[in-house]
Amino acid sequence: MHLTGTMRINGFGNLEIGGVDTTKLVEQYQTPLWVIDETGFRENCRAFRDAFQACGDSLVLYASKALCNTALCKIVAEEGLGLDVVSGGELFTAMNAGFPMEKVYFHGNNKSLRELQMAVSVGVGRVVVDNFHELQTLNRICLELEARQDILLRITPGVEAHTHEFIKTGQIDSKFGFTLPGGQAMDAVRDALECEALRLVGLHCHIGSQIFEIESFEHAAELMMQFMAEVKALTGHEFDELDIGGGFGIYYFPGDEPRQPSDWAKVASAAIEAKAVQYSLRRPRLIVEPGRAIIGPAGITLYTIGSSKEIPGIRKYIAVDGGMTDNPRPALYGSKYLAVIANKASQKTTELVSVAGKCCESGDMLIWDTKLAPIEPGDILAVFATGAYNYAMSSNYNRLPRPAMILVKDGKSYTILKRETYQDLVRNDFVPEHLK
Ligand SMILES: *Cc1c(COP(=O)(O)O)cnc(C)c1O
Repeated sequence: MHLTGTMRINGFGNLEIGGVDTTKLVEQYQTPLWVIDETGFRENCRAFRDAFQACGDSLVLYASKALCNTALCKIVAEEGLGLDVVSGGELFTAMNAGFPMEKVYFHGNNKSLRELQMAVSVGVGRVVVDNFHELQTLNRICLELEARQDILLRITPGVEAHTHEFIKTGQIDSKFGFTLPGGQAMDAVRDALECEALRLVGLHCHIGSQIFEIESFEHAAELMMQFMAEVKALTGHEFDELDIGGGFGIYYFPGDEPRQPSDWAKVASAAIEAKAVQYSLRRPRLIVEPGRAIIGPAGITLYTIGSSKEIPGIRKYIAVDGGMTDNPRPALYGSKYLAVIANKASQKTTELVSVAGKCCESGDMLIWDTKLAPIEPGDILAVFATGAYNYAMSSNYNRLPRPAMILVKDGKSYTILKRETYQDLVRNDFVPEHLK
C-alpha cells in the first residue's frame, strides 16, 4: 500500500485520512465520496513553492484544471501560490474564492471573446496567448476597455515527453501554441510586440502530463532560453518570465517513480541559469504549473461494493456504486489505480478481482486484476490518488448524481462540494409549451 499525506491504518484496521476513520466518513456522507486531505494538499503546495524558491526567483501556479473548487482555491491562495485557469468557469471560481487576480494566469487554445473580456476586466495577471487570432482579439479588447494586459506566448517547442500519448502536448503536431521549429513562434513575438495594448512579459510551454523524465523539462527550458536569445538578437526584446508548465508525474501504480519537487526545481533552474549566462540574458523568473502533483495524491475516492460476478477460470468482477462518471481516466487513458478495502485495510490481500463501475458501458472499469482482502457486499473500497482529473472530468452519464467532496483535517471533516440530488439533474430541463 502506498499511503501519502495523513493516510494511515488505524487501531481498528481501517484506513484513516486527516485523522478521520474512512468508515465514519461513509456513515456520515455516504458513497461514492471524494475525500481531500487538507494537510497533504498544503504540504504538496509548500513542497513545490519552497523547492523553487530555494533555486531563485520563481512562482508556482496550481493548475486548477486538475481540481477546481472554491475552498481549494482559498487554500492555494493561503499557501502563496498563483493559479492557472483555462476557462471563464475556472476564473469565476477563483473570483468566488477571492483569489488575488494578479497571480492568475489564463490559458486555453480557444478562449472566447467573453472569456477574454472577463479576464481583462477583472485584472488577471497574465493571459497566455495561444494563437494569432487570440493575439489580435485580445489587443482589440484591451484598446476598447482602455486596459493594458501582460501576456505570455504559448510556444510549442517540439519536445517529446515520454508519457501516455493522449496526454502529450509539447510535440509539433499539437493544437496548442505557436510552433517553434519553422518560425511561427518568432512571427508571434513580432506581432505581439506591435500590439500596443499588450505587454509581452514572457514565454510559456507545457510539454505533457504525468512525466517522470526530468531531461524533457531540462531540454524544453533550454530550447526556450535559446529562443529568447534569438528574440533578443532580432528584436532587442528581453523577457521577464519563463513558464515551463506542469506535468510532474505522481505515483499511481508500481513502476511510477516520481521525482521530488526539489529535483525538478534544481534541474530547471540550473538549465535556465546556464543558458542565461551562455546567451547573456537576464535570468527570467521561473514559473511552473503543477496540477496533478499537488492535488492528485491528496485525494481518495470511497465507494461501497455491491454485486460481484465470477467467471470461472477467467476473472471475478466486483462492482462499486460509482465508476467512469466520477473517474473517467481508466476508460479514457487506460490509467491504473491502486485500492484497498478501507474497512479491512490491515487484512491480507488474497482475492484477485477486477473493479467495475455501475455505468451501462463495458468500458466502465476502474481497476483490472488487483489483489484485495476477501470481499463482501457492503465493504468500502478506497481508491488512491484520485485528487486530480477525477471530479474535474466527472459527468452525469446515466444520470448519476455527482458525489460529494469532503475536506478532512485534524480529525474533522467538512463538505466542500454538495452531493448532487435527482432534483439537480432535472434543474435545467425545460418542457416546451406543446409538450405540457
Ligand atoms: C494540464 C496543464 C497543466 C497541469 O498539468 P499537470 O499534469 O496536472 O501538472 C499545467 N499547464 C498547462 C498549460 C496545462 O495544460
